[in-house]
Amino acid sequence: MPGVERASRAQPKNRSSQQLCKTISFVAMDSRFAIDKKILGLVFLCASVTPTFGAPPSPLQERADHFLSLANAGYQALYRVNSEAQWNAVTDVTPEHDAAAEATGKAYAAFNGNPAIIKEARDLLTHRSELNELTVRELNQLLLNAAEGPMTNPDLVSKRVEAETKQASILNSFEFKLNGKPITANQIDDKLRTSTNLNERKAIWEASKQSGPALKPNLVKLRDLRNGVAREMQYPDYFSLEVASYGMTTEEMLKMLDDWMATLRPLYLQLHTWAKYKLAEKYHQPVPKKIPAHWINNRWSQEWDGLVEAADIDKYFKGRNADWIIKTAEQFYTGLGFSSLPQSFWEKSDLYPLPPDSKRKKNTHASCWHVDLENDIRSLQSIEPNGQWFFTAHHELGHGYYFKAYTRPEVPYLLRLGAAPGFHEGVGELIALASSQVPYLQSRGILPNDFKADKTAFLLDDALARSIPFIYFSAGVMPHWEADIYAHNLPPNEWNARWWKYVGEMQGVEPPSPRGEEFCDAATKTHINDNPAYYYNYAFATVFKFQLHDYIARKILHQPPQSCNYADNKEVGAWLNDILKKGGTEDWRKVLKEATGEDISTRAMADYFKPLMAWLEEQNKGRQIGWD
Ligand SMILES: [Zn+2]
Repeated sequence: MPGVERASRAQPKNRSSQQLCKTISFVAMDSRFAIDKKILGLVFLCASVTPTFGAPPSPLQERADHFLSLANAGYQALYRVNSEAQWNAVTDVTPEHDAAAEATGKAYAAFNGNPAIIKEARDLLTHRSELNELTVRELNQLLLNAAEGPMTNPDLVSKRVEAETKQASILNSFEFKLNGKPITANQIDDKLRTSTNLNERKAIWEASKQSGPALKPNLVKLRDLRNGVAREMQYPDYFSLEVASYGMTTEEMLKMLDDWMATLRPLYLQLHTWAKYKLAEKYHQPVPKKIPAHWINNRWSQEWDGLVEAADIDKYFKGRNADWIIKTAEQFYTGLGFSSLPQSFWEKSDLYPLPPDSKRKKNTHASCWHVDLENDIRSLQSIEPNGQWFFTAHHELGHGYYFKAYTRPEVPYLLRLGAAPGFHEGVGELIALASSQVPYLQSRGILPNDFKADKTAFLLDDALARSIPFIYFSAGVMPHWEADIYAHNLPPNEWNARWWKYVGEMQGVEPPSPRGEEFCDAATKTHINDNPAYYYNYAFATVFKFQLHDYIARKILHQPPQSCNYADNKEVGAWLNDILKKGGTEDWRKVLKEATGEDISTRAMADYFKPLMAWLEEQNKGRQIGWD
């Protein structure tokens, strides 16, 4: 099963279309805010105006239609050129490809941040009541795209480019040291997964926090520059700008996230208690109130994996090959009634690991790309025959089929994206969840028909490693801390104290020893540096996926959500397609409500894990629950 957190950070506003799905260090494009007017001019020359039919539009609507047909054409042209160059840069890492990607990144940013576009979109939006809804959505999207580098203030943008570049360079070149010897981030993670020596674990955990002080000074500058760019676009701060993609204010977003944490809290307290007893036994320690951070495998305690041995099914994938895995994933979708992937997907994708002696180097993070916002859909993977890649292949094609579904004339290029930023990941996650259901694995011949699942173990592993603790990091610590620094102007000499206050209160986790302001532990998390005010999208995707899954299992399949099989059900496909085909043309709240009859909530998520609750209460009988 793929991890929950998946970042797309090459270009913030490409999020819907280059879905980078598998965590950690992807080198940020540093050039995305600069400008190249020559290329922009060429694109405008190539653009043509699409005639409209029906009742004659008002002069204002006509002006907007004309403007948007140019804007859409220019956007798609630059998007395609840029994606192609970025694709080359990640599938064949060379200095030449990096340079080409940088140049196209500049052209793309120049188009998006062009002052003429910003001005016209703003002008038109002052008469929004006279424009149709789709037009208003396109104009808003243009402004959101522009917000990463508004060339109405070139000086600010160039300062930000410089600071972003510097931060990426510190982040990517930072050398962690353990006992004076260099250690990579991957080695840190491996050791935290395997070491049972608490002294060693503490030293490794502390080593993983070394990058914070190096990153903090420039992060302080970036906070102001990012806020400056947001203000240039008439938002109060950078956090508010980012949550505007949901049509929400900072306070509304934080309230939604707090509600999720409140409703899941009884389950979290039970899991937390079970986990700390299990860990105390493992390390032969007295049971603590809060869990020491170095007891958990993950550097930020965001996911708690490796605690449930009985849920490992990798051995059943032995003897399968990588091609079978991706073809089986495609068959999942064709079985639901979706058409086959285009032939170009198979010709242009890069799906398998390179041989060890290969001269070519590629990025190993899984991703799916909508290269031209038309039918050129590709995926970058390194598929091996195991459970994780099986689920990841299903997840990635979720993006691919989302792209396919909204690639239709009714959806303008500017709105070929998810209904909200968390929708794309949520759909990928939904299919990964569906592909991990025991009846589905049996129907594909992976698990034997007489396989007796330890249902509690599967559910417990799912809760710990992918779902429940993750919410308290993704909806709790990360967005609250980032809202504090961007929207609430938290002074830098309180940054670390605030971070650990949230970790303690929300996650019930504490550092192995006091962490003063000489550290900046938040900055050790990649996203704080290169994908700011974005992390709640992973919480959204998690909550959203359980909601869709619940509807499909109960209302369409009439099977229990914890043990169901979507395979070959055309009704499921048709229902899903109704959501996907809309792209960004409607408000996400409306899309969700129409599909499920519900507003966004953790109701379905709590129901999914309900069978676990009784079991946990039994296990935790007589134990002190919580950490207060
Ligand atoms: Zn993804």
